[in-house]
Amino acid sequence: MIKKILIANRGEIAVRIVRACSELGITSVAIYTDADRHALHVKKADESYNIGSDPVQGYLNAHNIVNLAVASGCDALHPGYGFLSENPVLAEVCARRGIHFIGPDANVIRMMGDKIEARKAMIRAGIPVVPGSDHSLADVEEARQLANVIGYPVMLKATNGGGGRGIRRCDSETELLKNYDRVVSEAGKAFGKPDIFIEKCVVNPRHIEVQIIADKFGNTLHLFERDCSIQRRNQKLIEIAPSPQLTEAQRQYIGKLAVNAARAVNYENAGTVEFLLDSDNQFYFMEMNTRLQVEHTVTETITGVDIVQEQIRIASGMPLQYKQDDIQHRGFAMEFRINAEDPQNGFLPSFGRITRYYAPGGPGVRTDAAMYSGYVIPPYYDSMCAKLTVWNLTWEGVIERGRRALNDMVVFGVKTTIPYYLEILGNDEFRSGQFDTSFVETHPDLINYDTGKPPEILAAAIAAAIAAHNGL
Ligand code: ADP
Ligand code: ADP
Ligand code: MG
Repeated sequence: MIKKILIANRGEIAVRIVRACSELGITSVAIYTDADRHALHVKKADESYNIGSDPVQGYLNAHNIVNLAVASGCDALHPGYGFLSENPVLAEVCARRGIHFIGPDANVIRMMGDKIEARKAMIRAGIPVVPGSDHSLADVEEARQLANVIGYPVMLKATNGGGGRGIRRCDSETELLKNYDRVVSEAGKAFGKPDIFIEKCVVNPRHIEVQIIADKFGNTLHLFERDCSIQRRNQKLIEIAPSPQLTEAQRQYIGKLAVNAARAVNYENAGTVEFLLDSDNQFYFMEMNTRLQVEHTVTETITGVDIVQEQIRIASGMPLQYKQDDIQHRGFAMEFRINAEDPQNGFLPSFGRITRYYAPGGPGVRTDAAMYSGYVIPPYYDSMCAKLTVWNLTWEGVIERGRRALNDMVVFGVKTTIPYYLEILGNDEFRSGQFDTSFVETHPDLINYDTGKPPEILAAAIAAAIAAHNGL
């Protein structure tokens, strides 16, 4: 078994990995930039090391990080999500330096990180894929020709994209011509490669993804699906397991399809196969994420499997201790990404000091947070400051529990997405359990919730009342 893990990440996911280490008796090592010296993961890990003053580059220098892993006596490295987690170079440097990389092989990361290569591998394996290009586009003229063959609407997508960026829907040739340069430029800026490709846009699809887990001995299992259809600008906001929109037969089908996809590329460790489900109930492979996912918590909640601990066991060379039939799911889990953003102001990031934080509790409530009262959220990173995951036996029950827990949670000092989620939970369409990826866009009314009176107005009103009482 692995003994000491360097966590090449920050925020709530670094804290999550520290917790897994602690339960397994493994020593955890945190890294942090100057901007993160007061971050929670630094306080929680057994050891922590400063990796420099640049707030972002520190977490992106694979050589420095692996050097530190070796120097601090680690035998493994967990990449978390984002940052270098899907960069094959980190996995390669680890292998060269004798550090167990907690994830799949570098070649699999490289292949799946290229959405065109991933599509090709899936076509070879007989997995349905949306019609699209089999190479990166040479120029806008090629895009135009392919779009005419595929038929509008189409999607222009960054070949090496992630995090919902570098994706644009084009409903007509005019839009395609307008968006082409934008997507190329976004891809270049966000992913360091300007390559883009085109695929058929599935209109108002549901985003259904399957968690898979595979050991070094060829045992590959799925842990059922997650419904991540509640998104804004291709970024997930609320995730649900299992999907309230699937029949049991669809659930079995998609689980097997995901296992086949993973086997086709000799996948090892935890991964996610993402699918789109169209209005004719046809599933299409979209991409594979070769890492731990933000929303793994909902799967842990319905299955009882600790996915991070399984990742560590697999990387240690241990076989899975169960078979597919041993994996059961119970009830519904729902995760809310608590972002420090102002929904009423275009979801603008709202960084600053958390003057007060109170984590909700009670039955069926889990919080994975990267904040505490007094913590100052630095402006350099993702705006997600906590994840709230709730569980209940029924769909109606999990909605009520979500509402109760969101109301129970206190985050003062910054604006958050909490009041917006409360509006979504109150919406009849959402409550019916039937919704697709257009939900957020087609319900702009939900953002116009009543915030009540700002505290300064209340304070002024009280002062005026006291003054009036005193006859001043
Ligand atoms: P998940 O796929 O786990 O649901 P996201 O797509 O929201 O989660 O990504 C999680 C984090 O990782 C976000 O901070 C996102 O910006 C970042 N991320 C994901 N893919 C990439 C990528 N290819 N390059 C850079 N950052 C990425
Ligand atoms: P990322 O790597 O950024 O997560 P994905 O390929 O997973 O990118 O797409 C992110 C989201 O964009 C999906 O969840 C879906 O809502 C939307 N999307 C992507 N491709 C398509 C498509 N072909 N048709 C319709 N929606 C799509
Ligand atoms: Mg995706």
